[in-house]
Amino acid sequence: MSETVKYLLEENRLPKDWYNIVADLPRRPDPVLHPGTLRPIGPQDLEPLFPMALIAQEVATERMIEIPEPVREVYRQWRPSPLYRARRLEAALDTPARIYYKYEGVSPAGSHKPNTAVAQAFYNKEAGVRRLTTETGAGQWGSALAFAGAVFGLEVRVYMVRVSFEQKPYRKALMEAWGAECVASPSSETNAGRQILAEHPNSPGSLGIAISEAVEVAAQRADTKYSLGSVLNHVLMHQTVIGQEAMAQLEMAEDYPDIIVGCTGGGSNFAGIAFPFIGAGLRGAPKPRVIACEPSACPSLTRGRYAYDFGDTGHLTPLVKMHTLGSTFVPPGFHAGGLRYHGMAPLVSLLQELGLIESRAYTQLSCFESGIQFARTEGILPAPEANHAVTGAVEEALLCKEDGIARTILLNLCGHGHFDMQAYIDYQAGKLEDRAYDEAELAAAFATLPQVAVA
Ligand SMILES: *Cc1c(COP(=O)(O)O)cnc(C)c1O
Repeated sequence: MSETVKYLLEENRLPKDWYNIVADLPRRPDPVLHPGTLRPIGPQDLEPLFPMALIAQEVATERMIEIPEPVREVYRQWRPSPLYRARRLEAALDTPARIYYKYEGVSPAGSHKPNTAVAQAFYNKEAGVRRLTTETGAGQWGSALAFAGAVFGLEVRVYMVRVSFEQKPYRKALMEAWGAECVASPSSETNAGRQILAEHPNSPGSLGIAISEAVEVAAQRADTKYSLGSVLNHVLMHQTVIGQEAMAQLEMAEDYPDIIVGCTGGGSNFAGIAFPFIGAGLRGAPKPRVIACEPSACPSLTRGRYAYDFGDTGHLTPLVKMHTLGSTFVPPGFHAGGLRYHGMAPLVSLLQELGLIESRAYTQLSCFESGIQFARTEGILPAPEANHAVTGAVEEALLCKEDGIARTILLNLCGHGHFDMQAYIDYQAGKLEDRAYDEAELAAAFATLPQVAVA
């Protein structure tokens, strides 16, 4: 049993450190490149956007990084989050598998996102920042940062992908309740937004576009910084409280996962549940199979190229090496808005290249079907994003049945679907369809990948 697990077991406490998987990888991540020069950047290049404490975490190589006490104090409101055994789902599937789910829907914002929002707001406040800008897809990240901004007394301005802004008015209301401002993206407030609108007046928006808008605004003002809800190393690291807790909770159940599944948009909740286990495996513990579940309409891990690309559509962000569909790729407007991102976290991408994780893509309809089955057995209605992880777990549980093997499956139920009821209304009414992305558009987006000589 590791020191971390022993500590957590003592008093059922929440983790005292975040876990940094970089310390255990056989290879260092590729450098981040400047969008203009395409040369590796230094910490000072990121300073207009992020406080130094977060930049230091972004490039950190030590294994454990202490969680500041004010952050743990906020975490304590809902952490440790519960780990449940899905006995009724197991029975419905008639599987010998043991399925456990870690439930992140108990946070005030209803997802895993506050795990990093609270940390980011704390470090920005410490650095004297007054205002944060950010993007949001389905609205979970925007509402998580709005909550964290309210806790630490920061103004928050959120650019929300237009298709979700229209589908999910309650998320906007929630952000406003916490005191944040929420604008539909592309907006006419920024150069990046105006450029897109000139070409595509009816653009449904995308995370890539919304990031450009939020970065542009943050870069213009000294009292304003930018906050990202996924993809970056420090964001993934903040989420590792999930996996560390799950490890201790499974220890109490005298079990250990054979298989871990999570859904992937930018990769943060997946990293949160999986990285502590993958790291333990790299240090000699059993190695679970780890499966990333993504939407087939935005399949960065299963169909993307592993290449340097911009994080945003307007090419304001640095370049990172990742699985990408191309920064100009705009996925069709399906309901798991939190998964509509063209790229993938560099660390998740690197792990796939190293053969440490697998990935699968699922269609929207099959995911809603699993989500409804989960609700009818376990009672919790998952967020449409989380349905991808449920689908992966169900598939594995049915394989266990075929093989007659009782494997342990750990699934991250990253959020509830209470703000996504329109999606469920549409699904129940038979109005949802599986829209494939446009192959020609994907080819065009691949063609615009920047040509980067090896850094
Ligand atoms: C934001 C979000 C996602 C996608 O982001 P990741 O960084 O891949 O976790 C998935 N599920 C929920 C509930 C979200 O809020």
